Amino acid sequence: MFKAIVISKSGDAQQCAVRDVDEAELPDGEVTLKVDYSTVNYKDGLAITGKAPVVRKFPMVPGIDGAGTVTASAHAEFKPGDKVILNGWGVGETHWGCLAQQARLKGDWLIKLPAQFTSRQAMAIGTAGYTAMLCVLALEQHGVTPDKGDVLVTGAAGGVGSVAIALLAKLGHRVVASTGRAGEADYLKSLGAAEVIDRATLSAPGKPLAKERWAGAVDTVGSNTLANVCAGMRYRGAVAACGLAGGMDFPSSVAPFILRGVTLAGIDSVMAPRALRVEAWARLARDLEAARLDAMTREISLADAIPAAAEILAGRIRGRLVVNVNA
Ligand code: NDP
Repeated sequence: MFKAIVISKSGDAQQCAVRDVDEAELPDGEVTLKVDYSTVNYKDGLAITGKAPVVRKFPMVPGIDGAGTVTASAHAEFKPGDKVILNGWGVGETHWGCLAQQARLKGDWLIKLPAQFTSRQAMAIGTAGYTAMLCVLALEQHGVTPDKGDVLVTGAAGGVGSVAIALLAKLGHRVVASTGRAGEADYLKSLGAAEVIDRATLSAPGKPLAKERWAGAVDTVGSNTLANVCAGMRYRGAVAACGLAGGMDFPSSVAPFILRGVTLAGIDSVMAPRALRVEAWARLARDLEAARLDAMTREISLADAIPAAAEILAGRIRGRLVVNVNA
């Protein structure tokens, strides 16, 4: 038996609790893991609260991220004792996830834990941090270098935002952090932000084009914020759009794209090809300072992950939560 968060449904009502689960109930997969750490991402918040139809099958063990030790493997690349990480691939949505002490997964979904990280650090990064790195890679691919000008990060005090600030600052960019939490200004500066702005300056409906301010941007918010970010891009700037914390709509015009040559790069972490994941994790190992990661991370227990789900959706979690599934 092992402990897991289990989401079940009766009629329209969803229930969620820590339960003892029999190993025999684990889903099919070539690799069985003893999970060491997991995390709570925004999507885990949606799954656990049921606020969006993230969970496609019931009962479901949530947890889109896991880091652990292989206990059994029928996959050529992995053997018992290997340390591995899992991000996405529909785990915690259609396949039992890692907010549990054990998981059984497809071997092709796993990558080896980079030597520079412990399992705990890998989950402090989690999908949020790996997505922040995918955003940075996209900006680099579109020519956003530090000499081009300021880079904006929206949803700055959240998980993706915090890691994006730390990475971009380390790479030499002048980072401007947009937040609704003025009280977190010192925290954002400690991660490397040079300037902090109020997110209200970006959240109202705006004009198709605004003053050219940003050479690059990482947007986790969507809606009017993303439209205003696009309108405020400098000539040939690039925006990496990865989130919808403020809404899924995108009330923009083509003006920034056809008049300023702005690039809007879409970022998806869930189905990203393996080679890109390996590249992103290698770059995290190189570019994310351990002290900054520590400063943005709080550890919680498996049971604490349930109330944390509502907190993350309310925008009240600062930085990253790492879940010790054995506590
Ligand atoms: P967090 O909840 O940690 O951060 C989101 C931040 O957005 C909040 O901390 C808050 O920042 C800001 N925010 C929240 N609500 C609003 C609002 N109504 N209007 C404006 N800003 C708001 O979540 P994550 O960082 O983990 O994820 C951020 C987004 O990225 C989510 O939408 C998530 O679904 C998405 N995502 C997408 C991925 C992909 O593959 N494309 C992968 C990972 C995440 P502040 O208080 O500083 O204003």
